[in-house]
Amino acid sequence: MHQMTLAEIARGLADKKFSSEELTKVLLARITQLDPQLNSFISLTEDLAIEQAKAADARRANGESGALLGAPIAHKDLFCTLGIRTSCGSKMLDNFKAPYDATVVAKLAAAGAVTLGKTNMDEFAMGSANESSWYGAVKNPWNLEHVPGGSSGGSAAAVAARLLPAATATDTGGSIRQPAAFTNLTGLKPTYGRVSRWGMIAYASSLDQGGPLARTAEDCAILLQGMAGFDPNDSTSIDEPVPDYSASLGESLQGLRIGVPKEYFSAGLDPRIAELIQNSIQQLRKLGAVIKEISLPNMQHAIPAYYVIAPAEASSNLSRFDGVRFGHRCENPENLIDLYKRSRGEGFGAEVQRRIMVGAYALSAGYYDAYYLKAQKIRRLVKNDFMAAFNEVDIILGPTTPNPAWKLGAKNSDPVAAYLEDVYTITANLAGLPGLSMPAGFVDGLPVGVQLLAPYFQEGRLLNVAHQYQLNTDWHTRTPTGF
Ligand code: GLN
Repeated sequence: MHQMTLAEIARGLADKKFSSEELTKVLLARITQLDPQLNSFISLTEDLAIEQAKAADARRANGESGALLGAPIAHKDLFCTLGIRTSCGSKMLDNFKAPYDATVVAKLAAAGAVTLGKTNMDEFAMGSANESSWYGAVKNPWNLEHVPGGSSGGSAAAVAARLLPAATATDTGGSIRQPAAFTNLTGLKPTYGRVSRWGMIAYASSLDQGGPLARTAEDCAILLQGMAGFDPNDSTSIDEPVPDYSASLGESLQGLRIGVPKEYFSAGLDPRIAELIQNSIQQLRKLGAVIKEISLPNMQHAIPAYYVIAPAEASSNLSRFDGVRFGHRCENPENLIDLYKRSRGEGFGAEVQRRIMVGAYALSAGYYDAYYLKAQKIRRLVKNDFMAAFNEVDIILGPTTPNPAWKLGAKNSDPVAAYLEDVYTITANLAGLPGLSMPAGFVDGLPVGVQLLAPYFQEGRLLNVAHQYQLNTDWHTRTPTGF
């Protein structure tokens, strides 16, 4: 039962092959049995799950239908969940029970999805390895000595290990696409503003975007359908109609123009990954796509710009965690300043503190023009590169990451080495564009992802290309041994 995709679950539930309650119990037992190896969950919500599953079964018995009605999922632990701990992977929020549901959580619950729990993540979504969580590192089910990617590593490891079919995640600089690549999943970062950020604890507000992690493009379409849409509670949410993502999956790729940026194949890329990317290009060519070399000349400046902008926004967003209204508070503060200093010093881990300091520095009066303003100018250049490219092509294709999943601890002493691994993903966040990663093969038994980028609001095109690719390849069907 645990092998089923969301699409298969929807068919099985519609055909009354099993109930949502039965399936939910099977998956909860599987999580209890197998998750100690992975550490992919921070909280399990068994009672809520059974209650939601029974309610979904009752709705089906009353004649309701829907692809998510009775479908078991989990939420990355930065989506606020009413009355349930929402920790953001941080000691700071270990005792925080959200007083309301995030829009994404509420929308999926209304569609009948069943919440099995809250998944582990890098602290405040800062990281590419899921090692900065206060609840401990997450392990990659493909090799338990390797990282699953981050920051949505819990969602990725859980879905890859078949503990559940799909999960929500967020992507500020790659945190949906990179863990998808590292664990052989399909993950989609939507256009900025497509999915509401209301109730999604902010890391870098101008970059953060929620999206689906699943095994197939077909399942990402189902989950995105339940997440996307205008939300008056989020001032950056965009009032654009949500297309039927499943309906466009079957379109032919004949004549699709795919751009391959020459900058992607530089010295930093593992040649074995480069070869797998070439294979996926060949596959898409066979399906009718036309390949064109393009250039994204400002890509080289994207990492420095991102690692100024994201920490700058983080330093501002995280100032609310001061030990006063909610979150961790130190014992016996001597005065207000002592309360702030010790609560924040004890509540935040090293990577979060590093970013707050970098961000506060970049925003300080004497350095604003030199760092923050400069980074914003680079951001515009990165966006302009994409706009020019999309005049010539429909999709941009390349590797999701320059290397496969590294060993746990391998980059702990050198944060910049980890930042450099984000080279292919962060440009989409800087520009606000949608991006998808899908399985493209293996290197040393570790999964490799191919990334597709599209113009604003063309999530349907990304899902269509990925689905057609998956109808003709079987990488996405591979299961990690032991799971
Ligand atoms: N690795 C990037 C960072 O640490 C991206 C994280 C994310 O997308 N949340 O900022």
